[in-house]
Amino acid sequence: VTEASTGTVSGLIAEIADTGTDAVRGGYSRPVFSTAELELRSWFVDRAEQQGLEVETDRNGLIWAWDAPGEARDGAIVTGSHLDSVPGGGAFDGPLGVASALVAFDLISQRRISGRPRAIVVFPEEEGSRFGLACLGSQLMTGAVTAERALALKDVDGTTFAEASAGAGLDPARMGADPEALARIHTFIELHVEQGRGLIDLDRPVAVASSIIGHGRWRIVITGEGNHAGATQMADRRDPMVAAAHVVVAVQSLARRTPHARATVGRLTPTPGGTNVIASRVEVWLDVRHPDDTVVHALLEQIRQAATRAAADEGCGVVLFEESYSATVDFDPLLRDDLVDVLSHAPVLATGAGHDAGVLKEHVRTGMLFVRNPTGVSHSPHEYVEDVDAEAGAAALADCLERLIAQ
Ligand SMILES: [Zn+2]
Repeated sequence: VTEASTGTVSGLIAEIADTGTDAVRGGYSRPVFSTAELELRSWFVDRAEQQGLEVETDRNGLIWAWDAPGEARDGAIVTGSHLDSVPGGGAFDGPLGVASALVAFDLISQRRISGRPRAIVVFPEEEGSRFGLACLGSQLMTGAVTAERALALKDVDGTTFAEASAGAGLDPARMGADPEALARIHTFIELHVEQGRGLIDLDRPVAVASSIIGHGRWRIVITGEGNHAGATQMADRRDPMVAAAHVVVAVQSLARRTPHARATVGRLTPTPGGTNVIASRVEVWLDVRHPDDTVVHALLEQIRQAATRAAADEGCGVVLFEESYSATVDFDPLLRDDLVDVLSHAPVLATGAGHDAGVLKEHVRTGMLFVRNPTGVSHSPHEYVEDVDAEAGAAALADCLERLIAQ
């Protein structure tokens, strides 16, 4: 077998530049198990096999590409990320970690490093943008979410995760906690584009993660009375959209009064959603983050009270559901210090974004690397990584993996 050199990270990102482009929003829409994401998954399999890695897809749809001398797979050093995106996302959130892993494995094999087995892993549905639950693949593997709950999740078209998984060639009956797959991982390192301005301000290309700031998603359901937009007097309305508008404004002002908090309404879903119809119901999707979990819950309580008042003023009802919650995750401090040491005193940064690394951290030694994003913007077509930083990231990942493989 001749193993072709993988080349550069920017070269790999360029290979998938036409996959899943979104003509309406700009950037990329690559929901899990869509045509675009399945294309990216097979691109990864081809690339990994060309590099001489042994590829397997596990029962939860995680793809593993192994470099395992003697086929021993216990005590493995694992790196990787995801290929799915948010609607209208950037080119780097996810694919940068996968492409950097391929290049880093190439560098390691050129250096003929011996030691622990190693693998690249690709997680499905990291963003939660199709089925509403972020890090679904890693949560399934670790048992953080049950197969029963995951399989019943539906996308906007009513397709269940079970149906989409079967469509992608997986067997829904076999999905769920996979302690054997998890037990093979000794250490997991995820490289990711930075989702913020930390490295711009520090004028450095690569950082080591300290923690993932606690975050959660809530669904505020406001119910009123659906009616005709022309035939219903203004005084006779119980309009949940008006209450929702007050909630959106309250979320902003309450979060601004809470130091270091971030609270966002990024999605409103009216029912039935017609221009000439007063909605009968509006779902307000809320995202709240803060390093201190007690602050998150205090802020949420203020938002709940504001929503109750806003609904009552419109004669509407309101119920708030917690869809997911992840407490602040501190990565392994000894591993973090090791990575800082390997990378000649790379800066250490926290992130406000969730990652599969945050799920794995509860089970295995886990760390993360961030690569500078010159716009500081993510989950947007404006997310960017300079070629020179992308290669610096892959080289940093290779150096970190080399240290861990030899340990
Ligand atoms: Zn990501």
